[in-house]
Amino acid sequence: MCGIFGYVGNKQQAADIVLEGLKLLEYRGYDSWGIAVKQGKKLVYEKHVGKIGDAKINLPQSALGIGHTRWATHGGVTEKNAHPHMDCTKTIAVVHNGIVENFQELKEELIEKGHKFISETDTEVIPHLVEENLKHEGFSSSVRDAFNLLKGLNAVVIANAVSKEIVAAKTGSPLICGIGDEELLVASDASAIVKHTKKVIFLKDNEMVIMGKDVQLLSLPEGKKLEVKPERITWSFEISTKGDFSDFMIKEIHEQPNVIRNIAENYSSQVEKLAKDVQRAKGTFFIGAGTASYAALAGTYMFSKIAKKHINTSVASEFNYLEDFLTKDSLIIALSQSGETIDVVEPLIRAKEKGCKIIAITNTLGSTIYRMADCNMLLNAGPEKAVASTKAYIAKVSVILMLAYSLVGQIEKARNILLKTADEIRRLLSKKTVDQIKTIAKALSKTKNIYAIGRGASYSSALEAALKIKEVSYVPTEGLAGGELKHGTIALISKGTPCIVFAPQDETYGSIISNAIEIKSRGGMIIGIGFKKEEVFDHFIEVKDVDSGSYMAQVVVAQLLAYNMAIELRLDPDKPRNLAKSVTVK
Ligand code: GLU
Repeated sequence: MCGIFGYVGNKQQAADIVLEGLKLLEYRGYDSWGIAVKQGKKLVYEKHVGKIGDAKINLPQSALGIGHTRWATHGGVTEKNAHPHMDCTKTIAVVHNGIVENFQELKEELIEKGHKFISETDTEVIPHLVEENLKHEGFSSSVRDAFNLLKGLNAVVIANAVSKEIVAAKTGSPLICGIGDEELLVASDASAIVKHTKKVIFLKDNEMVIMGKDVQLLSLPEGKKLEVKPERITWSFEISTKGDFSDFMIKEIHEQPNVIRNIAENYSSQVEKLAKDVQRAKGTFFIGAGTASYAALAGTYMFSKIAKKHINTSVASEFNYLEDFLTKDSLIIALSQSGETIDVVEPLIRAKEKGCKIIAITNTLGSTIYRMADCNMLLNAGPEKAVASTKAYIAKVSVILMLAYSLVGQIEKARNILLKTADEIRRLLSKKTVDQIKTIAKALSKTKNIYAIGRGASYSSALEAALKIKEVSYVPTEGLAGGELKHGTIALISKGTPCIVFAPQDETYGSIISNAIEIKSRGGMIIGIGFKKEEVFDHFIEVKDVDSGSYMAQVVVAQLLAYNMAIELRLDPDKPRNLAKSVTVK
């Protein structure tokens, strides 16, 4: 959570460069934002509450600047609490991602030493700690010693107006340093850097980078010099912009056929290798958070049906409490778009201690989970900027589907299914279907609560549909297994209550239609998503049968429903309230 950007170089437009970087990172947090630039031997800053939007800034020309878009953890959403935070002398400015768990005791000690605090944040102890250390040591060692005192998982970027340097350090959360032509950049995400340079260092946890005239890499806590080995970003800047689309969410929904096609055409050998690990393991576990956990659940059903193999799925934040029975023969498959989700990272640390093998399925090269894993599978879906995940879900399910078929020697069949699915999704994205979905979205956006049901792998579709609708339209929506309705929730159905029913052509069909009839008998309004129009449906969106690919295609309908509900309600689908992408705090 939170977007960080820093610039030091030969250009005098640091403030504009940082502002532009923050705009690209705003999906990571958008409570408030701020920028500080060097002016003489001091730092001057601007801070604002709310989203950046088309904001302009009024800061002096400078060749050094840092900025932050916040997702508050400590202290309300106010201008004072927005980053950057300064020391008493205004020569040090800090932007921070994470939580300083011991900030209270550090703050008390600093106040006793005479430091003045302005904000309620945990972050503000950092510039004052650096200020204190600067009384007896140089800038980089001051940062190192200050950073080593912080408890918790943190990433910081610290500017010094006197030494004209920026130092970045991390124990958690991503930081990428870009090495340009006579300029250095640092950001929470490579997509904000790629416009300037494709040569980057993905900072590992417990590393610190000093950016001034050149770049130096040090290990933490001791500060030993490390060799700088830059990597190259392979994608272009254009891929991380909206292009002709009005929002990232709809752009990313439209990218899904290509994402699937890419996996069908290029992943066979990787998937087969991974299948061997699954075969060898005594106990395989999928873990993920939010949408990734629903991709994992869809995977559990697919493995059962296709590969006749049981794979456990756990919500990542709960896996901590299920790890007692892990052994060195257990295999953990971690699913995460960002590769940074703290709820996934934490159980992986423990699983690693137990000697389990870890496979990461992520969309982000160089991310924490990517680096922690013994084996990796990159989704190559391109940067996902909308907070509500769409194409990463589809990419994860595509890989899992291929994996399940690969276990029974049918990878070719999987590839064919995926290609057909890509075509079906392309059809669903046509004007005709989208117009139909818009009409339903209009009706749904006026309702108080919605239900979504499915059985088998469609149960995960129901959960994902409910999550998507909640995330972007804020209409309370509950996803349920079809059979569960009569065990309680049916009590909430009254005249006109909408219920989305996932009814693909599989063994669940008869039972889910019966559930739809039960709801209809109590006055419910049924939105059927499936291969065949039934009398019970008040609205029907056809999803042609594409075998196990249908579980993906039907989710795309839900994504479109959710998106169009947000538009109908005049909400920003890319930046839903209270949410942020890449959840790096607990
Ligand atoms: N804990 C800090 C704050 O509340 C940083 C939050 C963030 O990562 O945006 O300001």
